[in-house]
Amino acid sequence: MKPIQQALVDWYRAGHRDMPWRRSRDPYAIWVSEIMLQQTRVETVTPYFERWMTRFPTVSALAKAPLDDVLSHWAGLGYYARARNLHAAAGEIEQRYQGRFPSQSEAVRALPGIGPYTAGAILSIAFGQPAPILDGNVMRVLSRVFVIGGAVDDAAFKKQLWALAAELVPAEAPSHFNQAMMELGAMVCSPRAPGCSRCPLAGLCQARASETQERYPAPKIKKPLKTVHQVTVLLERRGKVLLVRRPAAGLWGGLWEPPTGELARGEAPALAAARVAKACTGFALDELEPLDRFEHVLTHRRMHFSAFRARPRGRLQLDHYEAARWLDAGAAKKLGVSAWTARLLRSLS
Ligand code: SF4
Repeated sequence: MKPIQQALVDWYRAGHRDMPWRRSRDPYAIWVSEIMLQQTRVETVTPYFERWMTRFPTVSALAKAPLDDVLSHWAGLGYYARARNLHAAAGEIEQRYQGRFPSQSEAVRALPGIGPYTAGAILSIAFGQPAPILDGNVMRVLSRVFVIGGAVDDAAFKKQLWALAAELVPAEAPSHFNQAMMELGAMVCSPRAPGCSRCPLAGLCQARASETQERYPAPKIKKPLKTVHQVTVLLERRGKVLLVRRPAAGLWGGLWEPPTGELARGEAPALAAARVAKACTGFALDELEPLDRFEHVLTHRRMHFSAFRARPRGRLQLDHYEAARWLDAGAAKKLGVSAWTARLLRSLS
């Protein structure tokens, strides 16, 4: 192996963090963990991963589970398209490959929700193939060791680093090499004040030699968050609340929530609540009262919610939403709901 490969593999083998998915070479477990870890911290993922693997221990178990059950096991992790894609891909693996996770790159890449990074992780860790990986942590390590300048969201920069990662991943021990790069980026080669004195690549790193570590990679230019105002109405009837299911595609797709919509410019929240409830459910509202106000921040949006409770009058006529159910708060919490809906349901009990 080249010195950089040997140094990383030796360092990884000498000790690394213990995580439940690292005790396995099951491609399904590795796939689930990699999808959960996108945009989410290891400490947050660990209990979700353990609950998930207990409830859906195999591809087949996941494929056969109802989507609501899958989404409820994801509730709180955010980016729900990840859970919908896991479910859809499990269905494809079940049908096309009789539940056996494919080991060919093209077949893995063709599954819903699996991009080049996840495919590389599965192929190298589960199947021992020399497939490259590149995420934010790996980009930082490579751009520093080889002093390659560019911003992390720049396509040409990423392309260059992908080519480098492909060139570097060894035929021998690709799993340990890739995991070493992930671990080094996460634990040592941090964005600020990297721990160069304990880095296995210290002697090979050009950024360290020139003391320019923090110049690589260039930061992303942050776009300001868009502010959005929403109203949401908990409709209550005989001890039950109405939850409606969002369309499968788009934000919070397939999740259940109280009827919710955007506040028009200059509109009073209570009037907006009545308008949204009428438009989405056909109900007029009695005894409308404020319940809560809160903020929910997503990657690109800052959402301000004004929540109300009310008694509905009239007949249910659903629009925009795909399904509706009257549920008591306990049953409602078991459906796939977003973090903010869970918070509202808690406030009722
Ligand atoms: S020497 Fe420092 S900058 Fe270079 S890879 Fe190691 S931790 Fe990162």
